[in-house]
Amino acid sequence: MISGANYIGAELSKKGKKQFNTFNPKLNLPTEWTFQEANEEEIEAAAALAKEAFIVYREFSGKRRAEFLRAIAKEIENLGDELIQVYTQESGLPEGRAAGERGRTMGQLNAFASLLEEGSWVEASIDPAQPDRQPMPKVDLRKMQCPLGPIVVFGASNFPLAFSTAGGDTASALASGCPVIVKSHPMHAGTGELVASAIIKAAELTGMPNGVFSNLNSSGIEVGQQLVMHPVVKGVGFTGSIKGGTALYKLANERTEPIPVFAEMGSVNPIVVLPSALTEKGDEWAKQYAGSIMLGAGQFCTNPGLILGIKSTSLDDFISTLGTEIDKLDPICMLHPNIHSNYEKGKKELSDQATVDVVANHDADVAPNMAQQRVLTVNGTNFLKNTKLHQEVFGPFSIIVRCSDADEMQAILAKLEGQLTGTILGNENEIKKYKSIVHTLQDKVGRIIFNGVPTGVEVCPSMQHGGPFPAATDSRFTSVGTGAIQRWVRPVSFQNWPNESLPEALQNENPLGITRIVNGLHTTQAI
Ligand code: NAP
Repeated sequence: MISGANYIGAELSKKGKKQFNTFNPKLNLPTEWTFQEANEEEIEAAAALAKEAFIVYREFSGKRRAEFLRAIAKEIENLGDELIQVYTQESGLPEGRAAGERGRTMGQLNAFASLLEEGSWVEASIDPAQPDRQPMPKVDLRKMQCPLGPIVVFGASNFPLAFSTAGGDTASALASGCPVIVKSHPMHAGTGELVASAIIKAAELTGMPNGVFSNLNSSGIEVGQQLVMHPVVKGVGFTGSIKGGTALYKLANERTEPIPVFAEMGSVNPIVVLPSALTEKGDEWAKQYAGSIMLGAGQFCTNPGLILGIKSTSLDDFISTLGTEIDKLDPICMLHPNIHSNYEKGKKELSDQATVDVVANHDADVAPNMAQQRVLTVNGTNFLKNTKLHQEVFGPFSIIVRCSDADEMQAILAKLEGQLTGTILGNENEIKKYKSIVHTLQDKVGRIIFNGVPTGVEVCPSMQHGGPFPAATDSRFTSVGTGAIQRWVRPVSFQNWPNESLPEALQNENPLGITRIVNGLHTTQAI
C-alpha cells in the first residue's frame, strides 16, 4: 500500500504542504499515487535521527550489519508483485526489466552482506610497537577504515531499484556503518516508498536503531539541497545529469565543512573501431551496436553515444548496416515526459549542426514518450572543431565519426572529456599497433572494454563504474560493485591503544579471522 508519506526513521510522516503525483509514461497520465514533499521539520527530524542512529550503528559488527542487508533483500522480495506493478507503471519499463532489476538489487545487498561477513574490506593494518628500537622507540600504530556518518543518497531516474532507494549507494553506505537518508526520485516515488517500507521492516526485524534509514519525497531541488547542506550529513551519492551532479558537488564544497559528493554523471562511452573489426566482423558489430544503442531506450549511462572509425569502404558498409539494423527496431517508451523532451531537445541540437549527416532516423507516428532513434555521422575534422557534438544525448542516439587516419582518431580521443567506459573493437595485434590510441582511451575512462558493448554492468569486486570528470566527481572510486563501500569510509589510526579497547579488526588475537597487513605483510595470523 502506497501512503504518499515520508519515512522519518520508522515513522510515516506527511507534514509538508507540497504534493505531487508520479506519472505513467505509457498512458501519458499521472498515476493514482499522490506524495507529500518533505518539509524542513521532517528534514531536521530525519537528520537528527540519523545522527543518533550512527552512534549505535557504527558499533555493530559486520555480521550484524550483514543480517540487516540480507533482511532488506528478503523484504524486497516479499513485496512481490505489487513492487513490479508500481515500478512498471511509474517507469514505463517492462515487467522483465523490473524483475531483473529487483534481482540485481537483492544481489547487490547480499554481495555487501558477504563482504561484511568476510570482513577484510576494512583494510586493517598493524605496525606493532618496538619499544627497544634505536635511536627512538617505535609506537604501536593500527589503522582501519571507519564509517563517515550519515549519507544522503539521491535516487536515480533510470534505475528505480538498482540505483535508488535500496540500490548500490544505499547498500554500500549501510554496509560501511553509515545511516542513510534517501532523497527519493520524484518519477518513481511509489516504487521508492515500497522499497523504503522493506528497509524499515528489515531494520525492525534485525534490531537496527531507528533512523538508520529515512526516505524523503520531493519534486523539486530544495529538499536535496537542504540535505546536502545539513551539518549532520557527511557524504552524498548521486546518479543523474552533469548539471545536477555538479550543482550538488559545488554546494557540498561551499559548506563550512565540505563533504564528498560521489556523483556518477554523463558519458558518451566512445567506441574505437579498428580496421580488422570492420573488415572481419563489420556486419556483426553493426547489428550488436544497433541493439546496444536501443537497449532500454538508450537510458543507460553506458549507452554507446560515439563511434570512431577510420575512413574506408568497410567503415561505409558498417555505417550502412548499422543504419539498416537500427531502423528495424521499434522505439521504446522513455521513463518520463521530461526525459523524453530532454532527449528530443538534445537530438535536435546535435542534428542541427551544419556538418552532420543522418544515418538513421525513426520518424513514423508513435505514441507519446516513445524514444525515436537517430544515428548521425560526421567527419573527424568537424567533430574535433565542434564540441557540441561531444555532448551526451540521453536516449537511443549515437554519432559515428569518420576519422581521416589514426592520428585524427587519437586527437579526438585526447579532446574528449572523462567517460565511464571506452571500447576497442579489433584484434590483439591491433592493440599493439595502435598502442597510443589505447593509452589515450584508457586515460579517459574507468572501464576499457575489448571486443564487446559497453551496456551491461556486472556487479562484482573488479567492476569500475566511474571515471574522470564529468563521468564522475572522483575517478578513484566506483559506484558499482563491492568496491563502492570505500566511498563512505575514512582511515583512522589508533596509536598505543589498549588491545581490548581496539575495534575487533585490530586486536592482537584477530578475533574476526580477517586478512590484515601486519608489518607490511598480508596475514590472518594473530599477533
Ligand atoms: P537529474 O536532473 O540530474 O536529477 C537527479 C536528481 O537530482 C533528482 O532527484 C533531482 O531533483 C536532483 N537534482 C537535480 N539538480 C539538482 C540541484 N541543482 N540541486 C539539488 N538537487 C538536484 O536527472 P534526472 O531527473 O534523472 O533526469 C534528467 C536528465 O539527466 C536526463 O534527461 C538525462 O539527460 C540525465 N541523466 C543521465 C544519467 C546518466 O547516467 N548519464 C542518468 C539519469 C539521468 P528533482 O527531480 O526533485 O528536481
